[in-house]
Amino acid sequence: MSSLWEQRAARNEALFREVNENIARLEERHGTTATEPVYVCECADAGCAEQITIAPETYRRVREDPRLFFVRPGHEDPQLERIVEHHDGYLIVEKTGAAGEVAKQTS
Ligand SMILES: [Zn+2]
Repeated sequence: MSSLWEQRAARNEALFREVNENIARLEERHGTTATEPVYVCECADAGCAEQITIAPETYRRVREDPRLFFVRPGHEDPQLERIVEHHDGYLIVEKTGAAGEVAKQTS
């Protein structure tokens, strides 16, 4: 089961992931460890601009799996993903089905 909508949603999420990767690289370059980096919500909504504070070690751990994304609570889409971890201010979701395949291809 792979609809166009599903693929588009997965691409949006991969795009937000790319934004966050740039943030992570900047953080490393400047070595700012005093405050936790602020990332953008990686949900399927292209118009979403919500911010999430993620501990660097958590960010790194999740990024190692291309199927995992960070979203604000309530921004998860049960049709595309399942919640694997609840954190303060954000959720970690895993792509399921076709969306997971697109996420892997674009990583
Ligand atoms: Zn969102």
